[in-house]
Amino acid sequence: MLSNTYIAELLAQQAERETSILSRAFRRAARSAFLWPEEISDLIAQNRTLTELRSVGPFIEKQIRTWIEKRPRRVKTVPAIRQDFISLAEARRLLANRPGWRKKLRGDLQMHSRWSDGSGTIAEMANAAKERSYEYIAITDHSKGLKIAGGIDERALKRQQAEIIKENVATSKSGQDFTLLRSIEMNLSPRGEGDMSPESLLHLDLVLGSFHSSLRVLDDQTERYLAALRNPHIHILGHPRGRIYNFRIGLKADWPRVFAEAARLDKAVEIDCYPDRQDLNVELLKLARTRQTRISLGTDAHHSWQLEITDLGLAAALRARIPADRILNFTPIGELKAWAQAIRDRNISKE
Ligand SMILES: [Zn+2]
Repeated sequence: MLSNTYIAELLAQQAERETSILSRAFRRAARSAFLWPEEISDLIAQNRTLTELRSVGPFIEKQIRTWIEKRPRRVKTVPAIRQDFISLAEARRLLANRPGWRKKLRGDLQMHSRWSDGSGTIAEMANAAKERSYEYIAITDHSKGLKIAGGIDERALKRQQAEIIKENVATSKSGQDFTLLRSIEMNLSPRGEGDMSPESLLHLDLVLGSFHSSLRVLDDQTERYLAALRNPHIHILGHPRGRIYNFRIGLKADWPRVFAEAARLDKAVEIDCYPDRQDLNVELLKLARTRQTRISLGTDAHHSWQLEITDLGLAAALRARIPADRILNFTPIGELKAWAQAIRDRNISKE
């Protein structure tokens, strides 16, 4: 039987053979295949329609059924821009075989709210997290340099923190054990510099730093990563490579060196769980494992339902055999905060 990952590749290759509207429909379906919650083969076995899946209309359904009836003889090799992506159906199968793994997850360390380009309020994101029995989540809206994503400036960040504190007070009054962490996804320049005043970051629990520019350069970017990790305000490096499924290959670097530096500074690198990011991917995670680098899981959710895609990151970490004690989100809140504070203290003592 063809797996969803295999079908995704067939769809992507079909998109390359078609033109205009059809090409876009196949391309969209290929991308969506990573979010389909069940294997196509299971749906067919249960006599269900495929149109219940995201981006599958009657036309695409017919094409998929043709492939399933007569498996296409050869698929050209999967190009690097589409390699090493896990489908949600596959992730759930992996996790079902290791039920203890998902239970270790205490929270999600990257998501966006209405303060920048997310669709949910902070309370809505918190409720979605409570429904998943999380102990904490970090609200990481974009910073001011990323105008296209509605990045917030220092004043807005301050107002947002006040809202978070209010939410936390209400939660604790109602007797629930749940914390919203004040955080930000700070935009980094290719030199590893942030775009927010250092004072504005002082009261945050965690600072994520991510690159959103010069992501198509082809030469080695090791220096950019080392600079970002050495930026005293950063705790976690978000979606490190900047790759996007079938759109952008991501940056190149001497990854063993980058991961070793992160480990030396005791900072974390992220698995951005967004289906078309999956950044870091399994291959790089295996390298990070050999350097004992801390790993952070972030869904990068822009809608509250997207908290479920954390399964993609959990599966990648499992497949790369990352030890549980290296995963930041498996850490109790007290320890997590102490870790963040220790990084801060180290930098202050250096100044
Ligand atoms: Zn980002």
